[in-house]
Formats: sequence, structure tokens, C-alpha cells
Amino acid sequence: MAKKKVILSGMRPTGKLHLGHLVGALENWVALQGEYQNYHLIADYHALTTDQRTENIYKNSIDMLVDWLAAGLDPKQSPMFRQSQIKQHTELHLIFSMLVTTARLERNPTLKEQVRDLEMENVAYGHLGYPVLQAADILLYKGDVVPVGEDQLPHIEITREIARRFNTLYKPVFPEPEGKITKFARLPGLDGKRMSKSVGNTILLSGSQDAITKKMRTAVTDPQKLRKGDKGRPDICLVFAYHNKFNPAEVPEIRAGCESGALGCLDCKMNCAKHIVDALAPNREKRAYYEQHPEEVTDILADGEQRALKVAQQTMSEVHSAMGIG
Ligand code: SF4
Repeated sequence: MAKKKVILSGMRPTGKLHLGHLVGALENWVALQGEYQNYHLIADYHALTTDQRTENIYKNSIDMLVDWLAAGLDPKQSPMFRQSQIKQHTELHLIFSMLVTTARLERNPTLKEQVRDLEMENVAYGHLGYPVLQAADILLYKGDVVPVGEDQLPHIEITREIARRFNTLYKPVFPEPEGKITKFARLPGLDGKRMSKSVGNTILLSGSQDAITKKMRTAVTDPQKLRKGDKGRPDICLVFAYHNKFNPAEVPEIRAGCESGALGCLDCKMNCAKHIVDALAPNREKRAYYEQHPEEVTDILADGEQRALKVAQQTMSEVHSAMGIG
């Protein structure tokens, strides 16, 4: 049987996950489970690039793992593990950091965007090197494919360059991974801007029916449609984008109702909230199970870390041999 291609995908444990994570990443990860050998990284060291406080990092890691399991990721097929527990990530990061220039990292458009968005005056050495640690994360498991949003493509390009440089300088050890853009890459936040937990414009996957309904009430809509009877423009309304995703069957009817003015925004939002609650029902059921069996969650993590460690050790042995050290 042909060997499955390898996918490395991960997230920083910065808190409970929201709809944007489900639509932009998790659904895609679940769909790719059978076809590829997946490794799922809890990138706890990466989380330190923007926030160095660590008191919640373990809890956030476990919460995120539960979110992953509730979304349908299968720990038997795909190891799930913390970056900090596989020391080979940091060793490979160190080796890779010799193979890329600071000028190259400073040109990284994703970094420039973050510096602007977070109004950062100074960039930490580790933040500049974020794509180098990411390259180590991917290549430690010889990732062939990395599912990413478009904004992450420049990082994958740096990974490819580092792999090429290592293979040319020493011996061919690493593949040059491809970025795989997710199909439904972005769902807007409830204020119409980018969905982000820190802004509070999200719907949490772990939210109750009440919480989801309350949140949906706050969603901004077409500003020209002030009351029922006013004609609306569904294509500029984020609630309509949510209907597209969670309620596709009623989309033509909603469009017609919005454009004619017959549909009021509150009714439209409440209908949307109901469909989101329904879509998350299987997620809720799995979450309830894992919340009642926390020991199973920690066992899954321990097992994932053991399996990831074996692969990481094998790769580092090849790295040492190629470099003639160790
Ligand atoms: S009726 Fe629905 S789609 Fe139209 S503007 Fe209001 S919330 Fe948006």
C-alpha cells in the first residue's frame, strides 16, 4: 500500500475555539483524516510569541484539545501533542535558524501585518523567528502538506526554502511541503471584521444555545436596512454569510426576503442562530462526553506525545547523520 502523505497542522492554545476555527480549519482537518497521516500540534511555545504569561497555557491546551475532539478529530488516527513536550522541535529550530537570514524573516508580510495590527513597537527575537520554529514543526514530521489560510502561505514558502537549503548543504532529509488553502477560509466576525477572540466578535464552539442566540443578536447587518420593510443587501451582510455556511437550503428565500424588505433582520438573525445551534449539536454531544471523562483527554494527549516523540527522534537521527554530528 502506498504510504500516506503527511500533514502537520496546529494551533496556538490561546483559549476556547470559535466558529472561525471550525470553518477555517477544523472541518478541513476532519475531512483530511482518512486520506493523509495527520499530526496535530498544540503550539504552546508559539503562543509565547505574543503573550509570555503561562499561567493558563496548560488549561488552554486541554480546552483546545477538547474542542478538537468535539469537532470530530480522531486521536487514534492522528497524534495530538504539545510542542513543548517534544524537545526535538526546539533543537531543529536552532539548526534551522542558521539557515535563514534575518533580512529574509523581516520581509515576511505576515509579520509586518501583525506588527501593524498589534501596534508593536519592538519585535521579540522569537517572534521574528516564528516561521523558523514553524518550519521545524512541519519538517520534524516530514510534512508534505500544510493546511493554511492564505495569510500563512509566506510562512510555508520560508519552510520550503529552509528544507531546500538543508538538503543542499547536507543531505536530502526533508520534503518541500505544499500549502493547502482551506476551501471556506474565512467567516467574518459578528462586527463584520476579522473574527478574533480578543475583539469579542466570535461565537464559541462550546457556547450554549442561549449564548449563541445572544451573540447573534449583536451581529451587524446592512446599515441601510434599519427596519423590516427596508430593502437590504445580503451580499454585504455577515448574517447572510453565516446562512450560506450553516443554512444553505434557505439561502434563496432569505435573499429574496432581504432584497424585497419582507424579511426583518431580527427574524433573520434568530433563524441563523437556530441553524448554528443545530449544526453544533454533534459537537456538543462529543464535548459533553469528554468533559465528563477528563482522564480520557489526558490519556489521549500522553499517547499522542509518545507517538510524536518516536517520529521526532527518528528525524533528528537522520538530521544528525546528514550533518555528521552527534
Ligand atoms: S435581512 Fe438578513 S441578510 Fe438581510 S440585512 Fe438583515 S440580517 Fe442581513
